[in-house]
Amino acid sequence: MEGLQLETPLGELEWIAPARQRQLERFGWRTVGDVLGHFPKRYEDRTRFDRFPSGESGEAICVCGTVKQTSLRRFRGSQRMFDAILEEDDAHALSVPLVCRWFNAYWVEKAIIQGQRLVVYGKPKVSGGKVVISHPEFEVVVEEAEGSIHLQRIVPIHRATEGLTPRMIRQLVWDLLEKVNGQSEEGLLPGSLDATSRMWALRQIHFPDSGESLGVARRHLVLTEFFAMQVVIAAKRVEQAGQDGAAHYVGRKLVDRLHAGLPFGLTGAQVRSIGEIGDDLALARPMNRLLHGDVGSGKTLVALSAMLMAVEAGYQAALMAPTQILAEQHYLTMRRLCEPLGVRVGLRTASRSEESGEVEVGGLFGVEEGEGKEKVPDILVGTHALLYEGVGFERLGLAVIDEQHKFGVMQRARLKAQGVTPDILVMTATPIPRTLTMTLYGDLDVSTLDELPKNRGKIVTAARDVAKLPEAVKFLREHLEAGRQAYIVYPLIDESEKMEVKAAGVEFKKWQELLKPMSCGLLHGRIGPEEKETIMEGFRLGTTQVLVATTVIEVGIDVPNANLMLIENAERFGLAQLHQLRGRVGRGEHKSYCILLHSGKVTEEGLEKLRILEGTGDGFKIAEADLRRRGPGDILGTAQSGLAPLKLGDLFTDDDLMRLARNAAFLLFERDPKLEAVENLKYRKILEEAQKFMLSQVS
Ligand code: ADP
Ligand code: MG
Repeated sequence: MEGLQLETPLGELEWIAPARQRQLERFGWRTVGDVLGHFPKRYEDRTRFDRFPSGESGEAICVCGTVKQTSLRRFRGSQRMFDAILEEDDAHALSVPLVCRWFNAYWVEKAIIQGQRLVVYGKPKVSGGKVVISHPEFEVVVEEAEGSIHLQRIVPIHRATEGLTPRMIRQLVWDLLEKVNGQSEEGLLPGSLDATSRMWALRQIHFPDSGESLGVARRHLVLTEFFAMQVVIAAKRVEQAGQDGAAHYVGRKLVDRLHAGLPFGLTGAQVRSIGEIGDDLALARPMNRLLHGDVGSGKTLVALSAMLMAVEAGYQAALMAPTQILAEQHYLTMRRLCEPLGVRVGLRTASRSEESGEVEVGGLFGVEEGEGKEKVPDILVGTHALLYEGVGFERLGLAVIDEQHKFGVMQRARLKAQGVTPDILVMTATPIPRTLTMTLYGDLDVSTLDELPKNRGKIVTAARDVAKLPEAVKFLREHLEAGRQAYIVYPLIDESEKMEVKAAGVEFKKWQELLKPMSCGLLHGRIGPEEKETIMEGFRLGTTQVLVATTVIEVGIDVPNANLMLIENAERFGLAQLHQLRGRVGRGEHKSYCILLHSGKVTEEGLEKLRILEGTGDGFKIAEADLRRRGPGDILGTAQSGLAPLKLGDLFTDDDLMRLARNAAFLLFERDPKLEAVENLKYRKILEEAQKFMLSQVS
C-alpha cells in the first residue's frame, strides 16, 4: 500500500462515511492536505488539568470533572438557562463545584447528562455566590474508546463548525496522519532556511509531543507560509525589473541649490531617502518606490528633491494630491521653493479644467508674459485626476503620488496607455510597520522617514469628557489671545450633502459663539474651491484664528502658528486618523495641545484608543497598535494585495521569520530569476498556486 498523499481527494477514502464526506465538503475540504492544513486554534495540556477555581480569573482555565447535576430554568420570553454542576475528580478541601452555564443552547441541553466527565475551557466568574463559566468550550470524555489522542497528552483544539466538533476533527486528522505516506511529501522550503521535515512538522502541529516540538513545528510551517508569500512577491519584482524604462538622472545641481536655500538642515532620514530615490532614478528600470513617514517628517521636501532631479535630467515631473486643497497647498510651497531655481511650476485645478480644460501655469520664470499658457511647466501639481485626464505629459519622467498607498497596477497601466512609463514615487503619511512593508508593500522599494525635524514642538494630548467643554474653551481662549491659532474638528455624522451642510452650519455657529470675538472659518467637503482657497488663505495668514473643519484637514495642511486642536466626539474617529489630525499641530516653535473630547457614553474600547494617543506621539507605534486592534486578518489577503490570507503566521510577532523568508526568497530569484534550475522547479508550484488564488479572487 502506497499510502495517502496530501493531494489525495477525500472522496477516494472509503472509510469516511458519505454523510461525513458531505460535511467535510461543506467546510471546503477537498483533499487530505486541506484537512491537515487546518491547524489547531489552541491546545489543552490534558496531562495536567488546572485545579477548580475558587474565584474569578482573567485567564481561561481548563479543568476536568464529573457532572453531579443538571438543571434547566425557563424565564419569561422563552429564555432558557441550562446549568451543569461539575465536581473536581480528586476534590480537595478547598475545591468548590463549578457551574457551567448556557443560555438557549438546546444542543448542549441534550449533550450533557449527569454522571458524565467533561473537559471544560473558559473564564470563571462569580455570580450569585457561585463560580460560573458561561458558555464554556467543553468536551464529553468518552471512557471506553479512549486511545491516547483525546486525553493524557497535549490535545489540539481545532476550530469547529456546525456538525463537526473539535473531537471529530481531531480524530479525522489523527487517522489521516496515520495513513499519509510522508516519504513522498517534499517540503517547499529551502533546506538552508529550515531543515525540519514537513511531515514531522505537520504531525507535531496537530499532536505535539511537547511544547518544544510544537515550537519547532510551528516555526517550520510559518516559514513555509511566509516563504511562499515572498516567492510571489519576489517574482513580481523580477518581472518589474525586466520592464523598459529610462534613466531620469543626470545630477543634483538643482537639488543642492534647493537645499542650500533652506533655513534648516535636512534630517538624516531625508538625506538617505533622497539618495535612494536618486539611485533609482539613475537606473533604466522603472522606479516603484514607497516613501512613508510620520506626519511632519518632511515628505514634501523629499518629493520636491526627487522631482528636481527629473527636471534637471530634462523631464517633467508631476505631483498628484488626493484633494484640491492639498494640491493648491503643494503648488504654493513648490512654487515658492522653485522660483529661485528657475523651475516652472504649474497647477491644474479641477474647477478651471472643467471650464476650459486649460492648465493654469504659475511662476513662469524665464518665460515672457503671455507665453505662459502654451508653455508646459517642468513640475505640474494637481489632484489624482491628472492621471486620467492625460494632460499632455510629453516628457513625464516622474510621477509623485501623495497620500495614496494603493497606487496599483491599474493606474500604472493607465499611464502606460498614454505612452509614458515614468518612475513612480508613492507617498503616504501613515507610517507602515515593517512587517507590512515586507508583505503588503513587498513589491515596492521602500524609503522610510523615521526621524522628525529637530525643531518640532511638543504636542500634549489629553482625552476629556465632553462635560469638560467649558474648561477646554477657556484653555483655547487663553492661547488664542496670546496669538496662536486653533483647529476645531467635528465628525461627519451623515454622508449626505444636506445633512453635512446643516451639521457644519450648526457646529460653526456654536464655536463662533463660544470663542467670540475670535474670527472663525468653516471648512468642509461641500465648500467650493474658490471659497475654500480664500478660507485657507485667511488661516495661513492668521487673519482667521480658528478653523472649524471636518476631516478635510486630515492630510497635509501645514500652518506652523496653529498649535491648538480640539477634536469633538474623538471616539468616532479611527486611531490612524486621529494621529493624522493631530499632526496638523506641533509644526512650529510653540508647544502644542490636542484635546480629544469624547462623549460620556464612550465604550471602554473607544477610551483605550484615546489613551494610546495620549501615551505616544510615535506614528509607527500607533500604526502598529491600530493594526493589532483591527487584527491582521483583514490586512493581508485584501483584494489589492493578491496574497492569500495567513493561516498560522502572525505578521507582528513573527516579524523575524518574515525577514528570514524574504531573504531566502529574494536570494533564490537573484540566483535563478526564472526558476529554471532543476532543483528550483518545485518552487514554480508556489507561483501557480498564487495565480490560482488571484484568479479565484477576481471571479
Ligand atoms: P509631511 O511629511 O507630513 O508631509 P511636510 O513635508 O508637510 O510633512 O513638512 C512639514 C513641515 O516641516 C513643513 O513646514 C516643512 O517645510 C518642514 N520641514 C521639512 N523638513 C524639515 C527639516 N529637515 N527641518 C525643519 N523643518 C522641516
Ligand atoms: Mg504631506
